[in-house]
Amino acid sequence: MRFRTGIGFDVHQLKEGLPLWLGGVRIEHTHGLLGHSDADVLIHAICDALLGAAALGDIGQHFPDTDPAYKGIDSKKLLANVCQLLSQKGYSIGNVDAIICAQRPKLMPHIPAMRQTLANVMGIDIDDLSIKATTTEHLGFEGREEGISSYASVLIYKNE
Ligand code: MG
Repeated sequence: MRFRTGIGFDVHQLKEGLPLWLGGVRIEHTHGLLGHSDADVLIHAICDALLGAAALGDIGQHFPDTDPAYKGIDSKKLLANVCQLLSQKGYSIGNVDAIICAQRPKLMPHIPAMRQTLANVMGIDIDDLSIKATTTEHLGFEGREEGISSYASVLIYKNE
């Protein structure tokens, strides 16, 4: 068995009046994330961690923000596509651990829905997908509510 790990990080800016998508779930809030796609910062960090673990580049290479095909796209489709790329290379996903850094809104009540939604997209057990949320104690851009960041770490494996 060959094991590999990967890390991912992403940031998107918050803007008033935009829909907020996090972990594939729509969350009621005054602000949403700005981006070429639906700007789901958590999914983007997970995609980059998976691509990194397989040394398959990054999300910007696979889904360029200059390509109109990805304008407003549901990031769950990008994640499904990344999982397919890994599976074509013979990799299975061991587990995913992720963090969302946001001052507001309170994310804890939405985490079960995010885990269920993304575990379904990735074809893994919900127990193999951990999502955590933290504020930054009003410090930095997340704390000033100018943006939201996300970190992800993954383990993938291949039978050899
Ligand atoms: Mg992004």
